[in-house]
Amino acid sequence: MESPFRSSLQGRKFIVAIDGPSGAGKSTIARHLARHFGLLNLETGAMYRAFGLKALRVGLPLDDHTALEALAAETTIHLEPGENENRVLLDGEDVTGLLRNQTVTDAASKVSVFPVIRAWMVRLQQQLAEAGGIVMEGRDIGTVVFPHAEVKIFLDAAPEVRGLRRYDQLGGKDSKPVVQPEEVIADLRARDQRDRNRADSPLRPAEDSVLLDSTNMTLEEAVHAAEAIVEARLQQKTSQVR
Ligand code: C5P
Repeated sequence: MESPFRSSLQGRKFIVAIDGPSGAGKSTIARHLARHFGLLNLETGAMYRAFGLKALRVGLPLDDHTALEALAAETTIHLEPGENENRVLLDGEDVTGLLRNQTVTDAASKVSVFPVIRAWMVRLQQQLAEAGGIVMEGRDIGTVVFPHAEVKIFLDAAPEVRGLRRYDQLGGKDSKPVVQPEEVIADLRARDQRDRNRADSPLRPAEDSVLLDSTNMTLEEAVHAAEAIVEARLQQKTSQVR
């Protein structure tokens, strides 16, 4: 069912920022909110992944920030919102299907610690919002990219729960080569550690964000809770206007 607020959001630059660690359910929730409220869904992680892929292809050491900065200067990344996922164009090539494997995931996490790379991505992300209302998900959307977003949700869940969700997404017991759930949880902890402790734009809730902990929720329950947060904010705005 679509939101009754949907029509009032048409043509407005209404921004919903969703931040949180990996596996907290951000993508599912962002996709649902975008559909429900008629907004564009933009996944910023895919941009870091695309740049990680390029660095791997070129064979750059992922800790060489000078070389990465030079590479960024000759790279274009474009995100096209779609019904289910974003289409990602890297230097004009559609790389959407190449971004989810473990090597690229790891590379994205490593290249995203550098301030020059982040500043470049933030500029691109702010430009993407010029088109209209959006749901944007990432790690620094409410704190850095859109500090004045109308709605900010910080989505979290216990690492074990997030790790098991990721494991299931990877195909769980059916995945080949076989990955153990413990490996997925350990990898997720390592990425969390990097995201939360980097000097530039570490992952943390914006002061005015609403915390949503999905540890003891099904994804469906978390989706409904997020929807209620946005509805409440819209109600509040409507009554302020009256
Ligand atoms: O969200 P996703 O898992 O696709 O993001 C891939 C990596 O990109 C994350 O592990 C994180 O290190 C980085 N990232 C970031 N800032 C964002 C989005 C993603 O640093 N806004």
